[in-house]
Amino acid sequence: IPKESVDVLIIGAGPSGIVAASHLNNQGHKIKVIEKSKFPRFVIGESLLPRCMDHFEEVGLIDCLKAEKFEVKSGARFLSKDIVCDFDFSKKHTEGWNWTWQVPRADFDNALAQELAKQGVSIEFELEATGVFFNSDGSSKTTVKTKTNEELTIEAKFIIDSSGYGRVLPRFLGLDKPSNIPTHSSIFTHVKDIKRPEGKEGTLITFDVIDKDTWFWVIPFSNGITSIGFVGKNSLFESYKGNITEIMNKMLKLSNYYYDRFSNLSFEFEPVHIKNYSKAVTKLYGKGFALTGNSAEFLDPVFSSGVTFATESGLLAAKLISKELNGECVNWKTDYADYISEGVTVFSSYVKEWYTGNLQTLFFHRPENLEVKKQICAVLAGYVWDKSNPFVKKHNRIISSMAHLIKMQKEEAT
Ligand code: FAD
Repeated sequence: IPKESVDVLIIGAGPSGIVAASHLNNQGHKIKVIEKSKFPRFVIGESLLPRCMDHFEEVGLIDCLKAEKFEVKSGARFLSKDIVCDFDFSKKHTEGWNWTWQVPRADFDNALAQELAKQGVSIEFELEATGVFFNSDGSSKTTVKTKTNEELTIEAKFIIDSSGYGRVLPRFLGLDKPSNIPTHSSIFTHVKDIKRPEGKEGTLITFDVIDKDTWFWVIPFSNGITSIGFVGKNSLFESYKGNITEIMNKMLKLSNYYYDRFSNLSFEFEPVHIKNYSKAVTKLYGKGFALTGNSAEFLDPVFSSGVTFATESGLLAAKLISKELNGECVNWKTDYADYISEGVTVFSSYVKEWYTGNLQTLFFHRPENLEVKKQICAVLAGYVWDKSNPFVKKHNRIISSMAHLIKMQKEEAT
C-alpha cells in the first residue's frame, strides 16, 4: 500500500478544512487535504456571518472570495406577519465586519479550494478517509480510498477532522452524543428567481416566521438563483402527503409574503429533506487530533452560525497545532474546547430561546429598543465572545427575563 507522510492531515475541504489548511501552510508546515467529493459540490449553509470574514482575511483568502462577486449580506430581515425586524450589521454593539456574503456553497467552497491549490497546498479530491489508527504518541495512520477503490495510507503527526456531515472521527472513535437542541428538520432547494423584484427587496436575505417552530428562509444569490427552505418540527413535515417536490410546493403556501414570488417555479434540484440535523460530540480534541466545524457540533440553521463556527474552530485548531509542532506547550482544554464551547453555548441559548418563542417576542415587540437591538445584532453577526455585550455575558437568562417583562407590560396594558 503506497504511503505518504505529513505533519497535518486535514479531512474535508469545506470552509473549516480550508481555513485550517491555509493557516498551517502559511506557517510552513507540511500538510495534505483530502476531500471525498469532486468540486464543485453542493452543500447547504449559504448565509454567512460577518465574523467569518475575520478568519478568511487573517489567512489571506478574502481577495479570492471578493473576486467571485457574491451577493453582499449587510444584515438580516425577520418577518412575522406584518411586523418586520431588520438587523443592520453596521449598527451592532461589537466592533468588527459590517457585512458578509450569501453564497452558493458549490462556487464558494470551490473558489477557496482552487486558491489553496494555487498556493501550493496538496489538496486531493475524490479521496475518502475510510479508517484511522492512532499510535500512543498521537501520530496516526489514515487509510484512504480513491474513486477507483485503490487504498493508500497517510501518516500524520496530527489530524484535523473537518469532514462536516461525514463526521469521520466521531464515527471511527465513537464520539457522537445526542444534541440537546430540540429536534427539527429542514427541506430546501434552489430556484431561478425569475420574479425577483428590482432593487434591495430582491437581494434581501429574509427569515419569514410562520409560527413559533416553523420558518422559511429566502437567500438570493448574485447569479439569479435563490435558495429557499423550511425549518420546522419533524411532525410538521410528516403531516404533508406526497413526494418531496409536492410537499415543498404545498409548504410554499405557508408564506403569505413570498408565495407569489416562488410559486409555480421549477426547482433547480429535487428538494432535500434533512432530519434531526443537530449534532454534538463527547470531546472536541484528543491526542493527535482536533474536531472542527460540523464534524464537531451543529446547532440549528436559524442564526446561520454553521460556517462561522467551522472557520473559527478550524483556524484555532490550526494555530494550536502549529504551536505544538514548533515545540510549544498547548492546553487544549482551555485554549480550544473551553473557548469553542463558550461560543457554542451562547448561540445555543439563542437557538433554544428562538424555539421557546422568547427571542421572537423580543424581535417583534414594538416600539423597538434600539440599544437591545444593537446588542442582539452583534450576536447575530457572530461576535459571541465579546463579554462587554450583556446579550453575550448573560445569554442564559437575559432573553427570557426581557420577554417576561414585555409580556407583563402587555398584560398590564390590556
Ligand atoms: P462541510 O462544509 O460540510 O465540508 C466537509 C467536507 O468533508 C465535505 O466537502 C465532504 O465531502 C468532506 N468529507 C466528508 N467525509 C469525508 C471523508 N470520509 N473523507 C474525505 N472527505 C470527507 N451554516 C451557515 O453558516 N449558514 C446557513 O445559512 C446554514 N444553513 C443550514 C441549513 C441547514 C438545513 C443545515 C442542516 C445546515 C446549515 N448550515 C448553515 C450549516 C452548514 O451546512 C455547516 O455548518 C457548514 O457547511 C460546516 O462546514 P464544514 O467545513 O465543517 O463542513
